[in-house]
Amino acid sequence: MNRIVVKSPADGAVVGEVPITPAEAVASMVERAHRAYLEWRAVPLVERASYLRRLKRLMLKRREEIATLVAREQGKPRIEALIVELFPPLDVSAFLIDDGVRLLRPRSIRSKNPFFRDRRSTYYFHPYGVWAVIAPWNYPFTIPMTQLMALTFAGNAVLLKPSPLTPLTGALIGELFAQAGFPEGLVQVVQGGAPQGEAMLEHPLVRGVIFTGSVPVGRLVAERAAKTNKKVILELGGKDPALVLADADLRHAAQGIAWAAMVNAGQTCASVERVYVERPIYEPFLEALREELARIRVGHPLSPDTDMGPLTARFQLERVQQHIADACAQGGRMLLGGRVRTDLGELYHEPTLIADATDAMLGMREETFGPLVMVQPVDSPEEGIHKANDSAFGLTASIWTRDPRKAAALAPQLECGSVSVNSHIVAYGDSYGTWGGFKDSGVGRTHGEFGLYELVQVQYVSEVYTGKPELWWYPYSARLQRITDWLMEFLAEPSARLGLKTARRLLPEMRYLTRHFTPLATTLGFWRYLRY
Ligand code: NAD
Repeated sequence: MNRIVVKSPADGAVVGEVPITPAEAVASMVERAHRAYLEWRAVPLVERASYLRRLKRLMLKRREEIATLVAREQGKPRIEALIVELFPPLDVSAFLIDDGVRLLRPRSIRSKNPFFRDRRSTYYFHPYGVWAVIAPWNYPFTIPMTQLMALTFAGNAVLLKPSPLTPLTGALIGELFAQAGFPEGLVQVVQGGAPQGEAMLEHPLVRGVIFTGSVPVGRLVAERAAKTNKKVILELGGKDPALVLADADLRHAAQGIAWAAMVNAGQTCASVERVYVERPIYEPFLEALREELARIRVGHPLSPDTDMGPLTARFQLERVQQHIADACAQGGRMLLGGRVRTDLGELYHEPTLIADATDAMLGMREETFGPLVMVQPVDSPEEGIHKANDSAFGLTASIWTRDPRKAAALAPQLECGSVSVNSHIVAYGDSYGTWGGFKDSGVGRTHGEFGLYELVQVQYVSEVYTGKPELWWYPYSARLQRITDWLMEFLAEPSARLGLKTARRLLPEMRYLTRHFTPLATTLGFWRYLRY
């Protein structure tokens, strides 16, 4: 048992194997990564961007091979792998190369406070050091790849632990970084499951962790990481709702929701699992969605005509079947699907549509993570929002309407990390968007500007060269108290009237004040402050 042998979920054929990393070997890998980080953090950002450029070219060049491996190892159609696994990392590399240097460069800041205007303050963005990236199996390339690119660009080193269901794609990611010339030890791949993950979390030199996976394991990871005060980013599960309003373009909504519910055989953290439809269009929408889902061609992931491949693992198939049985037992109306396609193989499942779903059904509360979509009528958009928010999860959501004003009013009411209008899961594809969840769906963000800033420690540096003692230094005196009172009043509620009054009060104290402040900078700052 010192190797993981990967069998394709599509046909059971052996795809390959990797040696398992002994958990005891993790410590020395972390130390090697730390040594690499100490040199890498001194590499200028523009130079780091050139490594990413090489990586981008390699991904592009080897895209067919990457997509084919993902299709064989994980089961999504090869064309889908190209779209959802290759596009985002290529786009993220472009974002980092084009905007990352500007975002992470030291940034000078100008304080509004008049008494801090005689100094220079700067934000510096420092890497943390070594990170653990613990990845899931459902998007084995794009998720860790985008995270690793941003982490290394920000100056960190990484140990990636892919899911034991998709270790070959994980190994390929390590190979791509090596081939792109990243320094030895900076990106390493740890193969295995919980023991290897825990060994990474225990090591004090691992300063941060990005965990993408299930809610219970996410909680465990956060607990472990807390023991050594690591930075933690959790990208967890979802139970994403779509809200179809009465004025929606039904065909468009049905098309979009069919894709968003079934992409990757529904094994997407942000797939649409619950649909709330305004009552006047409930039946026509169900018919449109049924038609769209019926068109989906289930088949072998390497066939060019396949829209949907198999599920990746048996436990997934069982969960889907359990949620379908529960819905049917509670009065759900099955409009399509429901069966395993044993004619194709062990893990293929029909796209399944259940109408008249109720809140108590398992499939409306727990993550299904399979090709099942459940639909419920609502009496108003407000009821739809209320139902959408009535969940422990809050990853993404979508609103389907022709009315931009309605969408703009409703979107911010949804308790989730991103909202798409007339589409779904857009935030992941847009490298300028940000990714992450509210509530149980996660902590922190990845992608875009906000995701990048999660991977660095912000340092504030303040410089003053006037040689004057600060006003608040010893000795304390009644005079200092008086001046403090006046300044406090002015700074808390600045106005022209109070400005003049404070200036009059301070005038006799000028000699005292100029012992502490540069008169010109402070006086100018004083007047500028009134403008804020
Ligand atoms: P999982 O939680 O079972 O495993 C995720 C990773 O954690 C794997 O690499 C696994 O080996 C590792 N792991 C397991 N036990 C561990 C432990 N004790 N210590 C350290 N590591 C441990 O999740 P999964 O089944 O691989 O992925 C599916 C889940 O991921 C779904 O819930 C899905 O919604 C979620 N997901 C979320 C996002 C997102 O961006 N929010 C993206 C993809 C998947």
